[in-house]
Amino acid sequence: MRSRRSATAGPRPLDAADRAVKPAAFDYLRPGSVDEAVAQLARHGGDAKILAGGQSLVPLLNFRIVRPSVLVDINRLTALDFIEAHGDGLRIGALARHHTLETSLLVRERFPALAAAMRHVAHLAIRNRGTIGGSLSHADPAAELPMMALLLDAEIWTSGGRHAADGFFLGPLTTTLAEDELVTEIALPTLRPNTGWGFEEFSMRHGDFALAAVATTLTAADGKISEARLGTAGVGETPLRLRAVEAMLVGEPFTPELAAEAARLARAAVDPPSDLRASADYRRHLVAALMERALNDAWARAR
Ligand SMILES: Cc1cc2nc3c(=O)[nH]c(=O)nc-3n(C[C@H](O)[C@H](O)[C@H](O)COP(=O)(O)OP(=O)(O)OC[C@H]3O[C@@H](n4cnc5c(N)ncnc54)[C@H](O)[C@@H]3O)c2cc1C
Repeated sequence: MRSRRSATAGPRPLDAADRAVKPAAFDYLRPGSVDEAVAQLARHGGDAKILAGGQSLVPLLNFRIVRPSVLVDINRLTALDFIEAHGDGLRIGALARHHTLETSLLVRERFPALAAAMRHVAHLAIRNRGTIGGSLSHADPAAELPMMALLLDAEIWTSGGRHAADGFFLGPLTTTLAEDELVTEIALPTLRPNTGWGFEEFSMRHGDFALAAVATTLTAADGKISEARLGTAGVGETPLRLRAVEAMLVGEPFTPELAAEAARLARAAVDPPSDLRASADYRRHLVAALMERALNDAWARAR
């Protein structure tokens, strides 16, 4: 037990308890290039973990839920920290921080739904550190970025090649990435002209993970919906695209009644979990309410 000290006493020497850290011991590597990082990952196999923003990994380390023997810190790979125009689409480096996505003029102009979604990711201090590559690799089912990648038909480029976002997320915290594969950049293809968007999220407090979130784009042509995309987060083991509801909307003239019908179908299409924060039925209710709003917003913006 520590003895009591007077407020005026000088600094107390560190004891063993002070020196103990929360995570299990690990070796720390800081590669200077993508090739070096991949070589280090390959050398240590499943024992190594990439450290990007650390906003998901460090809590897992502190609780000793993960105990890698090696951390490969990629924060020196500054070539992966970029946002660039690519045709009318965008290329985003894996180390682009959430707050950079939120405030980038290019993102706001070309993918305003993405900029809007970023404001719902945690708190500013976390958004200053968290990276797009980390969020997609971590694959939290309630996270905004995986849903947006799926909605926007993103391509996820890695040291091993290209993954379509559709099919990348296999389950909670599980993707198709190999143990020694490093996400390097994300490509967002051009949206068609006259495409509007909607984003809605409900969480217990601002900055919490979503109980349910939805995102949608609608493209207008000749007064009808020519393309529809509907995504959800927090209501399944992975983010979802509601393809059957999208197909029902295409070719139809938009009406508020059609949005309400699509929202009812969206509610029936999801199979959310029940947990301490919300029942499955409440989450289904949220999907319907949020989707109806998002579809009306998307159509208003499409025109
Ligand atoms: C209090 C709190 C609230 C949060 N709320 C939200 C929220 O509302 N919405 C949300 O989406 N997120 C939320 N987060 C998580 C945050 O967005 C994280 O920043 C993000 O999920 C992970 O990004 P990172 O760069 O911090 O990754 P890290 O924590 O460094 O890594 C996460 C995982 O991805 C792997 N990884 C990282 N980069 C790569 C790469 N380039 N290639 C391959 N694998 C890689 C790591 O090895 C690790 O397994 C919250 C976090 C905290 C602490």
